[in-house]
Amino acid sequence: MSIKADVVVIGAGMAGMAVAAHVAEAANVVVLEMEQQPAFHSTGRSVATYIENYGNEVVRGLNRASARFLNKPDPEFWHSALLKDRGLIYLAMAGNGDALNEMLAQSSDIVEISLEEAKARLPILRTEVLSRTLLEEGVKDIDVDAMFSGYRRLLRSRDGQINCSAEVTSLSRDNNVWRVETAKESFEAPVVVNAAGAWVDKIAAKAGLEPLGFTPKRRSVATIPVPEENGSPDAWPLCAEIGESFYFKSDAGKLLVSPADETPVEPHDAFADDMAIAEGLHHFSEATTIEVSRVEHTWGGLRTFSADKSHVIGFDPRTEGFFWFAGQGGYGIQSGEGGARSAAGLILNDALPASVESTGLSSAVLAPDRFLS
Ligand SMILES: Cc1cc2nc3c(=O)[nH]c(=O)nc-3n(C[C@H](O)[C@H](O)[C@H](O)COP(=O)(O)OP(=O)(O)OC[C@H]3O[C@@H](n4cnc5c(N)ncnc54)[C@H](O)[C@@H]3O)c2cc1C
Repeated sequence: MSIKADVVVIGAGMAGMAVAAHVAEAANVVVLEMEQQPAFHSTGRSVATYIENYGNEVVRGLNRASARFLNKPDPEFWHSALLKDRGLIYLAMAGNGDALNEMLAQSSDIVEISLEEAKARLPILRTEVLSRTLLEEGVKDIDVDAMFSGYRRLLRSRDGQINCSAEVTSLSRDNNVWRVETAKESFEAPVVVNAAGAWVDKIAAKAGLEPLGFTPKRRSVATIPVPEENGSPDAWPLCAEIGESFYFKSDAGKLLVSPADETPVEPHDAFADDMAIAEGLHHFSEATTIEVSRVEHTWGGLRTFSADKSHVIGFDPRTEGFFWFAGQGGYGIQSGEGGARSAAGLILNDALPASVESTGLSSAVLAPDRFLS
């Protein structure tokens, strides 16, 4: 006996949970997750930041389409804003000041500040080795746990089902219905949503489709202590070196330092690249007064990109009822609501919602068709 639904969503990361919650308003939804708990892969490993000017034009449109919800979610979703002020300082090392020009030209929200002002905001900077600094005040922290559990609650309140330890092993379509097999159970639904993060091309292959060419890229992060004489780092802005040799952000009294690595890998349970971490910490030590003597913890995660680095949101034209919600890259949390609303609009009404169209996006720029000749 198969369990019947209107829509089966594969993957319970931010993408799968958010689209499932929205679609469940008008359809019977089942989410299938291979791990024992949701949000185990990329979603549980982000550095929880909202940077409106991050990503290409399509990504920025989805960021903007998410901003209102993140600033003021419905009270029944979450009782307060999901964003908190953080700010971001971009720095250029001595001799590399011109590298900031492009960033400065990108948005009027990004302004140049003196090295002294940068140091006043971020006291560990070694201004003598820097040439210039920029400030993007509007950068925020995202409460990822509150956001994810909000979608989970919303889905449950709409009678959606979440099945963990349910790895999708095969997909076949017969009589206008997808049959989705896991080791324990089978499911049937006219629509399948592929929200499997780094595994989206593997899921397509199970459905007999050629891959669209996604690349998972590993990113590593180290947690280091902050020596007491520096005071509490909690109010410090995020800081990124313009050549992407490192970035760092405070978190609960410690610093998260990433070498901003982007190594293409096969989908897997990612772990930190120790060499990349060592290199990133070396650059971090050059730019700051902190000498790293101890790393408390490291982790890695996958950021999965399409070939043009934009999200892929739409029905696959090669078969019926196979929907892609993929390629969230390094922006899947901050663009999550706009992406999920787009996906739900296309699944339920064959159209993007007005809140997404008003950012200038069209379904064509999101559709998988652009990778199929
Ligand atoms: C170090 C790091 C920092 C980041 N920082 C930020 C940030 O500051 N801001 C931001 O917006 N984004 C950030 N990101 C990116 C963000 O985390 C991702 O874009 C987002 O989490 C992707 O969500 P997802 O649901 O697509 O993928 P995932 O969270 O990976 O979810 C996909 C799910 O599909 C499941 N799955 C796969 N195959 C199957 C199968 N066969 N059957 C059933 N289930 C399956 C997996 O188990 C997984 O749970 C960061 C990422 C990393 C790694």
